[in-house]
Amino acid sequence: MTRAGFPRRHAVIVGAGALGGWTALHLGRLGWDVTLVDAWGPGNGRASSGGETRVIRRGYGQRRHYVPLVTRALELWAELEAEAQVRLLDRRGVLWMASEPGEFELGSVDAFRANGVPFEELGRAELEARFPSICVADVPWAVLEPGAGALFARRGCEVVWRAVERAGGQTLLSTAHPNLDRKGDCQGVRLSDGTALDADVTIFAAGPWMAGLFPDALGDRLKVTRQDVFSFGPPPGAEAHQRLPVWAEYASRLFGDDSFWYGIPDGLSRGFKLGEDTHGGDWDPTHGDRVVDPARLDRARSYLAHRFPGLADAPLIDARVCQYTMRKRSDLLVDRHPGADRLWLLGGGSGHGYKLGPAIGEIAARAITDDSGVPETLGALRLQP
Ligand SMILES: Cc1cc2nc3c(=O)[nH]c(=O)nc-3n(C[C@H](O)[C@H](O)[C@H](O)COP(=O)(O)OP(=O)(O)OC[C@H]3O[C@@H](n4cnc5c(N)ncnc54)[C@H](O)[C@@H]3O)c2cc1C
Repeated sequence: MTRAGFPRRHAVIVGAGALGGWTALHLGRLGWDVTLVDAWGPGNGRASSGGETRVIRRGYGQRRHYVPLVTRALELWAELEAEAQVRLLDRRGVLWMASEPGEFELGSVDAFRANGVPFEELGRAELEARFPSICVADVPWAVLEPGAGALFARRGCEVVWRAVERAGGQTLLSTAHPNLDRKGDCQGVRLSDGTALDADVTIFAAGPWMAGLFPDALGDRLKVTRQDVFSFGPPPGAEAHQRLPVWAEYASRLFGDDSFWYGIPDGLSRGFKLGEDTHGGDWDPTHGDRVVDPARLDRARSYLAHRFPGLADAPLIDARVCQYTMRKRSDLLVDRHPGADRLWLLGGGSGHGYKLGPAIGEIAARAITDDSGVPETLGALRLQP
């Protein structure tokens, strides 16, 4: 029973990735009786949150409404890290290597100033002195965001799952489908063994599986793209490749396209990670064989040889195929199902949703608890404009 004497309300959350896990945790903290269900477990090998690491940064160019969300997310990740006594966050900084005119980086600098986010602007000479393993011959300037860095992604999902349990919530391994009554309202979920799990509110945060679960409501609003990610092994003694911030850049000057590259230095997890944000083709997250594309690997090697010449011959030591769930303008989705009041849909994490899990989960949990919509200022989170 709640303090006011009313029975506790029950929420079923489907999906224990960054979005679902954190929504469950916040709902539990707000007094809900919570059941968190995942088909293959928190941070599993198919989930978008199942990678080893993810970048956390406040550099968002002109899209400055994300800055306070990331600030809040950083606080919540750090709190959970302290509470669980498990390392979830490495705040070694994120380096944005600018091209001319550096519109994205200039937009980020404006947003940093407006939001009191510490940053440094570095010219080429300073970059060479501080980060000798990066070839910056074609980088005129850069922005360093010292409070940002990397998150241990898969581990974070497991820690959130355990935190839900510690807070009194139930966790279940099962595939769940919405249990809709004849009027179309959602009574809870049906599990793979046929059990019905009733709920006052049901939340689906099923990442790349959302569009398949809700084709009528979501149509083609979410698009799943394959992403190949590589980790290379620096030679013995090349510790300079560990003493680096996380980095990112629009690399049009290298490839003559609008490709965006990012990476996480060696020493944090499974090698020197390199990712290209360019979208791969359509992707089936359930049945796709996760074998990397040799053409993507070639491009990654070219980038590496150019920007980190000391790694030109580094062996590939780990590779993963993951997927983005893209939404228009990469904005996340937090809204009620248009035909079922007690059913909420969360998703569209695109290539940047992991870090935001704690902040988006908090917004979702408050809106669900207050039976309201998401705040006007975050209107982009709604299904319908
Ligand atoms: C290569 C790559 C790099 C990225 N880099 C970054 C980055 O640097 N920073 C960043 O912030 N973000 C990054 N992202 C994006 C981020 O990882 C995603 O936006 C985020 O993880 C999405 O989380 P989610 O909870 O929506 O989905 P998921 O993590 O996919 O979780 C969905 C869960 O739902 C479960 N599920 C699905 N259907 C059912 C069902 N019917 N019943 C029960 N369970 C079900 C699945 O098992 C899964 O665990 C990256 C993504 C990729 C692929």
